[in-house]
Amino acid sequence: MEEKQKGGISVNTENIFPVIKKWLYSEKDIFLREIVSNATDAVTKLKRLASLGQYSADEAPYRIDVRLDKAAKTLTVEDNGIGMTEEELKKYICSIALSGAVDFLQKYEGEGDSAKNGIIGHFGLGFYSAFMVSDTVEIHTRSYTNAPAVHWTCTADGDYEIEASDKSSRGTEVILHISDDEAAYLESGKLREMLHKYCAFMPVEIYFDDGSEKKEGESEQPINDTTPLWQRSPSECTVEEYKDFYRKVFSDFREPLFQIHINADYPLNFKGILYFPRIANNYESIEGQVKLYYNQVFVADNIKEVIPEYLLMLKGVLDCPELPLNVSRSYLQTNSYVAKVSAHIVKKVADKLVSMYREDREQYEKVWDDIKTFVEYACMRGEKFWNRTKDVILLKLTDGSHVTVKDYLESAKETHENTVYYTTDRSLQAQYIAMFEAQGIRVVEFDNMLDTQFAAMVESQIAGVKFIRVDADVASVLKGEGTAVEDQALTELFRKVSGNEKLTVRFEALKDGDIPVILNVSEESRRMEDMMRMYRMTGGEDAMPAFPVDTALIVNTASPLIKQIGEMLQTNSEKAESLSAYLYRLAVLSQRRFNADEMQAFLKDSYHILSELSK
Ligand code: ADP
Repeated sequence: MEEKQKGGISVNTENIFPVIKKWLYSEKDIFLREIVSNATDAVTKLKRLASLGQYSADEAPYRIDVRLDKAAKTLTVEDNGIGMTEEELKKYICSIALSGAVDFLQKYEGEGDSAKNGIIGHFGLGFYSAFMVSDTVEIHTRSYTNAPAVHWTCTADGDYEIEASDKSSRGTEVILHISDDEAAYLESGKLREMLHKYCAFMPVEIYFDDGSEKKEGESEQPINDTTPLWQRSPSECTVEEYKDFYRKVFSDFREPLFQIHINADYPLNFKGILYFPRIANNYESIEGQVKLYYNQVFVADNIKEVIPEYLLMLKGVLDCPELPLNVSRSYLQTNSYVAKVSAHIVKKVADKLVSMYREDREQYEKVWDDIKTFVEYACMRGEKFWNRTKDVILLKLTDGSHVTVKDYLESAKETHENTVYYTTDRSLQAQYIAMFEAQGIRVVEFDNMLDTQFAAMVESQIAGVKFIRVDADVASVLKGEGTAVEDQALTELFRKVSGNEKLTVRFEALKDGDIPVILNVSEESRRMEDMMRMYRMTGGEDAMPAFPVDTALIVNTASPLIKQIGEMLQTNSEKAESLSAYLYRLAVLSQRRFNADEMQAFLKDSYHILSELSK
């Protein structure tokens, strides 16, 4: 090259530099990913030429060097890949890359202001993203064809110069002169973190030199793993390797429960590993993380457009080289390839549960409590997931064992067809549980809010099935042989002591005479009330009505105590009243917590009874 050539970025693109600089302020970090992934592409291209016999590889191993020079305020990315001739540099950098960046920004702009709606991971901005953080960018490049090396310098106003370069080795060196207001990108810690986030699995070894003095004997280590586990065949990976990979990627010291390694062939062509972490009971606090890669280049976390939101409770990595990432999010939502990838992932996760259930039921039951929240949530959110897993959904019984919904219903045929009895509080509802179990009826234990919502979903999916809490349907299940006679005087008495003149009082002869009175709240009313409670969290317990309107007090005529109170009414109505008030409170107690007034009255009565007893 004889003399310096000058040029300017053409008219229609002249605004691009200030736009690049200002627009993507939220995710500036991606410039490093773009520059380093260009470097890996350059190496991959050369490797391909070598494998085709069009280039005979030399001794030097392929590598990428990222160098920080704080004093010079530069960050350099150098590769020993394919390089560029002067013609190529003009074509690729000055023309194709630039118009690519313009296209990208135009699309991005079309999406509106919100960066959230933008193109996922700002994928596709390419080389010119360097200007987000640089005043000037230089390229020194020497093509593998050994054409003369070229030096390109471009300032942030779009003016560039091309001249001869003294670069003697093959490949490309990109030097970013970091602008003063982006000095954070001259911090070694920040750069290391960015390399770790975006480049940890890129396919060419990357070395980072932060300019600090090397300790003696310190060997050079690449910052990346060029053959991540997901690229390997599942049959070659050990459990230990899966665990190590999990720890490394998610910095989570807890072991995952198990994993699913997906290796989808053509036409889907994507790979990934999804882990089931130990999931806490409260599904709202679960924070999974699914990292999306594009040919081993990190794109973004938790992309709802690709993986159904409920699967984001899991942790994992997905590498989808076919994903059209340089399109808008809304486009991805209607893209048929994306829909197929998403459906395939759902199928794989569901199939894994089914195969675990079939092949190792014991292990499946062991992990059930940890995965239950996820499975229930997934079933509620995805009908396909429910349809695939419904036969392996387990219910936990009060004795700690598990049965499938199907088996429970099968065994209930004789005694309580189509009904699943459950408890939400083993201690509060202990007496009911005992009564059901004495009848040979198995009680299912619900231990979080989601269980009840899940039960409602099962009811809507399986015709005829009802979930009923043990305290909601006592009378019908526990009805004894005898017939109950209504007693108007007792009705009046209980209405009086409950403070509710309209209280429904029903007389039943139950099998068990030990329990004198029970408050019966119908399943529907209680669910309504639970919903209300959920939506108006404020106000506390005391702000809620004591019981739903259709609450009934069941008076057990088989109870000797009730008989006694009935007789006592004739002789000592005061004593009958205080006994029945106490019984009423006990019935309330097995339904819900006392409010402050009730608690005080209850304690007072208890002390009174004790002092009577001690006389
Ligand atoms: P993309 O990588 O998506 O094609 P870029 O704007 O990042 O877009 O780069 C444009 C082109 O410039 C690349 O396709 C490639 O031909 C060339 N290029 C960029 N960086 C390098 C490099 N380090 N080595 C060789 N060619 C490069």
